[in-house]
Amino acid sequence: MTTIADKLYLVRGSLQEACVRHARPATAVRLLAVSKTFGPQAVREAFAAGQSAFGENYIQEAVDKMALLTDLPLEWHCIGPVQSNKTRLVAEGFDWLHSLDRLKIAERLSAQRPPDRAALQVCIQVNVDGGVAKSGVAPAELLPLARAVAVLPNLVLRGLMSIPEPTDDVQQQRQVHRAARHLFDKVAAAGLPANARWDTLSMGMSADMEAAVAEGSTMVRVGSAIFGRRG
Ligand SMILES: *Cc1c(COP(=O)(O)O)cnc(C)c1O
Repeated sequence: MTTIADKLYLVRGSLQEACVRHARPATAVRLLAVSKTFGPQAVREAFAAGQSAFGENYIQEAVDKMALLTDLPLEWHCIGPVQSNKTRLVAEGFDWLHSLDRLKIAERLSAQRPPDRAALQVCIQVNVDGGVAKSGVAPAELLPLARAVAVLPNLVLRGLMSIPEPTDDVQQQRQVHRAARHLFDKVAAAGLPANARWDTLSMGMSADMEAAVAEGSTMVRVGSAIFGRRG
């Protein structure tokens, strides 16, 4: 039987190889373990194997899981859609949010961030390839939203997240990731308020990790390759 520790080891190996092949420093890409639908025991196993950053899509599920894991020094990333009535849970429970797509949500998160916690680290989700079923801002909306988010006091704007339409075609994967990278660079070149720390390109999942690394990802979000198939 392949354990979570085994699979983590393999994923880290593939990530390192991808970095070497595409001339990226091995430390340039962080691994986020996406533990959605898996229980606290799976998170414990991954933590024991050296993983401390975890991504979750469903906020209530995540908060329930966190409550059972307070003995571990974990970093929690929200990567799923956030409705207004869930902002308090995100502001109180998470370290990062990758899926910001509205100023109103950002304002609520900043207002609701507990004063005893570090600022919430946020990425704006961009719908780079125009996928119809997906959330995320259109590319043209990115810069104005980034500028408005960057001045909110209890958030630190870190970059963008992209979730391309799934495809097995590596060239197609790379093309969409490259477009995300261009948007990322354009915002950097346009300039942001001093509060921002525009250094994170959250892209790449189990099936397109290497393509994302090739095009400049700084954080890959890997679920099934670590935890197995979701039921
Ligand atoms: C589920 C999910 C992932 C992980 O996907 P895998 O294919 O299991 O690696 C990454 N990012 C987001 C936004 C997700 O919803």
